[in-house]
Amino acid sequence: MELLVDLHTHTIASGHAYSTITENVHAASRRGIKLLGMTDHGPSMPGSPHLFHFENLSIIPDELSGVKVLPGVEANITNHEGDLDMPLKYLTYLKLILVGLHPICYPGGTCEQNTQAYIKAMENPYTDMMVHPGRPDFEMDLEKIAHTSARLNIPVEVNNSSLSTIRDKDEARDNCRSIARYMVKYNSPVILGSDAHFWDRVGEFSDALDLVYEAGISEHQILNTSPDRVLDYLATRRRNRPDISRLLHPYRLNIA
Ligand SMILES: [Zn+2]
Ligand SMILES: [Zn+2]
Repeated sequence: MELLVDLHTHTIASGHAYSTITENVHAASRRGIKLLGMTDHGPSMPGSPHLFHFENLSIIPDELSGVKVLPGVEANITNHEGDLDMPLKYLTYLKLILVGLHPICYPGGTCEQNTQAYIKAMENPYTDMMVHPGRPDFEMDLEKIAHTSARLNIPVEVNNSSLSTIRDKDEARDNCRSIARYMVKYNSPVILGSDAHFWDRVGEFSDALDLVYEAGISEHQILNTSPDRVLDYLATRRRNRPDISRLLHPYRLNIA
């Protein structure tokens, strides 16, 4: 399987990642990645960029060293209602919106509350993809998430870092195996993400791929094989958003 897309990478702007976008692009180019997401953490993560970082992302060229770049965010779910830490204004123009749960940004709750938070975020018309559901930080109903992914056609990530670099990767592996099997059962759309926090991890999918083969996820479920398929998906997602232009009157920009 040829993987040409890595949508989940971090730069020094995240505060706890250590490479620049230029270094990440060069690493992507060397690995044969054609489409790269730049998804630094949303503002509720300590050390993450302030909102003006996201405001100014349009200065990054669409293509660098033969790699198309999608500047976006890895937004944080902040409560059991699935609310995100990015004001609506920013969600309307970022090119890529990944969403996930992080212990420092979300209080945690029962399995039902955590699952509800994740699923409500999937139902948000501004969410493009969901990340690392297998992290053991919060217990969730992984079958329900895989089923919702198929129902809403929202890709859910197999996160390479969950299987390789995080401290509790053994526990994460069990969860990732479990949701991968449910994603086979429901034929859910899948995205592989490196979640690189250093340039040498950009486009690194070997552990995620092992899991894909082990679980029997089909190639047609995986978006990473085609940059055009990812770009078409993101364009369709944006076309289907509600028309909120009235709410975004220039004098009322900070509606959350
Ligand atoms: Zn994350
Ligand atoms: Zn990340």
